[in-house]
Amino acid sequence: MSDTKTYTTTYSMTIDGQSVATEHTIGVVNPATGEIFAEAPECSPEQLNQAMIAAQRAFETDWRYDLELRRSVMATCADALDAAAEEIGRVATMEQGMPLGAGIGSVRRAAFNFRRYADLEVPTLVVQDDETALVEVSRRPLGVIAAIKPWNVPVSMAVNTIAPAFRAGNTVVVKPSPFTPLATLMVGELLRDVVPAGTLNVVSGGNDVGQWMTEHPIPRGVSFTGSVATGKKVNTSAAPDLKRVLLELGGNDAAIVLDDVDPEEVAEKLFWRAFGNAGQICMAIKRIYVPEQIHSAVVDALVARARAVTVGNGLDEGVEMGPINNLPQYQRVRELVAEAIGDGAVVRAGGHPIEGPGYFFEPTILTGLAAGTRLVDEEQFGPALPVLPYSTLEEAIEQANGTTYGLGASVWSSDPDRAAAVAERLEAGTAWVNTHAAISHGAPFAGTKWSGLGSEGGIYSVYSYTDPHVVYRARSGANAYLPVPGAGDSDAH
Ligand code: NAD
Repeated sequence: MSDTKTYTTTYSMTIDGQSVATEHTIGVVNPATGEIFAEAPECSPEQLNQAMIAAQRAFETDWRYDLELRRSVMATCADALDAAAEEIGRVATMEQGMPLGAGIGSVRRAAFNFRRYADLEVPTLVVQDDETALVEVSRRPLGVIAAIKPWNVPVSMAVNTIAPAFRAGNTVVVKPSPFTPLATLMVGELLRDVVPAGTLNVVSGGNDVGQWMTEHPIPRGVSFTGSVATGKKVNTSAAPDLKRVLLELGGNDAAIVLDDVDPEEVAEKLFWRAFGNAGQICMAIKRIYVPEQIHSAVVDALVARARAVTVGNGLDEGVEMGPINNLPQYQRVRELVAEAIGDGAVVRAGGHPIEGPGYFFEPTILTGLAAGTRLVDEEQFGPALPVLPYSTLEEAIEQANGTTYGLGASVWSSDPDRAAAVAERLEAGTAWVNTHAAISHGAPFAGTKWSGLGSEGGIYSVYSYTDPHVVYRARSGANAYLPVPGAGDSDAH
């Protein structure tokens, strides 16, 4: 039996290195039971202001200048997270629904990211070194970063901002989703004695707390991960005082299968890249395009895979797929599937909510759909996958690109060069060949079109949380912006 009562039911915010309780709380539902199992603090505007002031004060210390201090703090954060991975991962599973292994893995990945960013070298670029001048470009931290996060992989998402923001010399106020605040609050509690007071503040509450953060005058950067609709609002709220904004938004990733694959082999690989975390991953496969002649073979193999999945409470042994995280999202997935069926979709596997408590939905494979149905056109963010046939590759590319989303896409073939030529033509921040949702630390992760603004990943994250800082050391009077009489030619512009 799953034990949902092992943990404390109250959690506190972290502001200026202190535990902070609130007057009001919000109930946190375990999606596997549909019941509230813990209360999270609801941050007030005054408390948010205190968090911002603490973060600003902490930024104005040695922290921003002392890379070795930050590196050592980040390494200790990594060790602390690794040591607490089981405890925090378990709560992540209880609030999010993912299988326990994934919950624990998400905390370990966060630890790994702290280490990776601690070790990251951020070179100073020498852009001119001649008789006229020595010109060097380094990166300068922005100040306080307001980090607003979604519910799909809470701890990883939070640390995706905290680690590079720290590496760059910033301080952070982070707000997890109201659906999954607990594991991130635990990270705040865990790191209270590890990081200098005020460098990491963790607040929780509803959507309005996110809005206050983007409107607050202190943060100089906003790191937002979430939906396109909210991302647009965040961009607008952050505009009046020109905060730097990093938006990592939703996707509707297409996978294009070429005609030279082995249907069973490719289906096996495609399946978990679509259904991992019950489809609640920004860069999961959300539509598959398959050549007409092998469409039914690939669908049959996907259907067999879907029917074999063990769905259940993520705390239970052997569970491969948990519930949908929250009631509105569960209702949305139900609605999208029902609408698709109304539009003529054929349910090849699943298609229904699973009886009993919690927000469980069967792994669902649908055919008979085309563009124009919301399940194809929109991000479903759940365990329901349309598999569409195509007759020409041109048509598949056009359909894959025929969306306002542009997060990821993939091409599957026994000839990687042939697939890469198709990948070149896909309008996505990342186009994979024979995989999907794989991340390389050296590469920018960035959505094109409405899937994002700016990039994260490795040094690109550091760039997002810094401004360039140019030091121009003159060696002669030339090259002045304003002509200096007798100093030679100017290239004033
Ligand atoms: P959401 O946009 O509903 O909420 C995200 C966060 O924004 C939450 O913390 C929420 O409280 C806050 N928020 C809501 N309204 C706000 C406002 N007006 N101002 C400021 N903050 C506000 O997204 P979600 O449903 O939590 O997450 C799912 C979405 O996140 C999906 O679209 C998914 O693709 C996307 N996502 C993207 C990435 C990526 O890296 N591109 C990663 C994970 C998830």
